[in-house]
Amino acid sequence: MAQTADHYAAVLSASEGVLDDVERALARLDDGTYGVCEACGGPIDHARLDELPVARTCAGHPRLTDPAPTGPSEPRPAERPAGPSA
Ligand SMILES: [Zn+2]
Repeated sequence: MAQTADHYAAVLSASEGVLDDVERALARLDDGTYGVCEACGGPIDHARLDELPVARTCAGHPRLTDPAPTGPSEPRPAERPAGPSA
């Protein structure tokens, strides 16, 4: 299957991103800035850190955090028109 190499490439590429996030989180632990929002400097909710330990921002700035919590190969469902077809 030609898909295999592509699949592993995608997985590895996603893992690199996650590793990057983890390394940044560890650096922040060293810094003493872990749990501080990079956007507003406010504290990141503990519940949020529980859910996403590599979170770099508080819940108010979720868009600046870009890890992939789910797998890289999650199929994106195509939008289907709801309602009766006329
Ligand atoms: Zn914030």
